[in-house]
Amino acid sequence: MKLLVRNPLIVTMNEDNDVIENGAMVVAGNRLAYVGPAEWAPLGPFDRTIDASRMIAMPGMVNSHCHSPANLVRGMMPSKPLEIWRAYYRASLRDMRDEDFYASALLGGMEMLKSGTTTVLDHFFGNQACRFMGAGAAIQAMRDLGLRHVVALTLSDKSYEETIPLGNTAADLNNEIKRMSQKEGKPTKAWLDDCEAFIDTLHAPEKLTTACPGPSAVQRCTDELLAKSAEMARRRNLPIHIHLAETKAQQVMGRQLRQIAFAASGFAGRVRRGPLAGALNLD
Ligand SMILES: [Zn+2]
Repeated sequence: MKLLVRNPLIVTMNEDNDVIENGAMVVAGNRLAYVGPAEWAPLGPFDRTIDASRMIAMPGMVNSHCHSPANLVRGMMPSKPLEIWRAYYRASLRDMRDEDFYASALLGGMEMLKSGTTTVLDHFFGNQACRFMGAGAAIQAMRDLGLRHVVALTLSDKSYEETIPLGNTAADLNNEIKRMSQKEGKPTKAWLDDCEAFIDTLHAPEKLTTACPGPSAVQRCTDELLAKSAEMARRRNLPIHIHLAETKAQQVMGRQLRQIAFAASGFAGRVRRGPLAGALNLD
């Protein structure tokens, strides 16, 4: 299959940020064979020609963070601060199964492809009643679409109520939150073993899949889980993905839970001077 794309405005995104008017692109099989001015384009014959006059051709966009199971319940949760909204969202996940995770990833993936996104990072948390929480079904959907995907399996070995600043809320409310989160807990080693098996089973760059650890957030993981998931990513030469201070409550909890440990290890001093100082907001 040889395809000619004729006359697009090409935004190259190369080092010089070159923009080519009246460009041409030739695709041979699944490779770009030519990108440049139309007058230098190789001659045909071509199996197909697309007239892209008045169109822009550019590298695919990257969606660097999403949670694919959320597509099916978009707009259905009350508009609340994240820490409260998340309890509603988690409740909906407990009713979802593999076919739902497949449909949800398919829906979001179709939207992304239609609007120019060709790579997505899915920080996946589904239902613990399903194998790998349903991540395999989401991966299958993105493979079926031909959408390149990095799937970071969410890891969190702390209970929900430990991760939010509940303060002195009513005791029965705290008990209800504990009851809801009890079923989601499992030991640190089980999270790590599950992630190793997830990567062994589903990591396959030739099928567009990068599988990697995705510890949920600093305040949602023990030190052991954070350190060992980082070690796993290094050992397997994979990326690692994490939320960092998404909300005011997380920033407060991050400080409460981590600053003492950082200070004790001397890490805080190193971070304050390093390139992460702004991102970690430890000053
Ligand atoms: Zn997120």
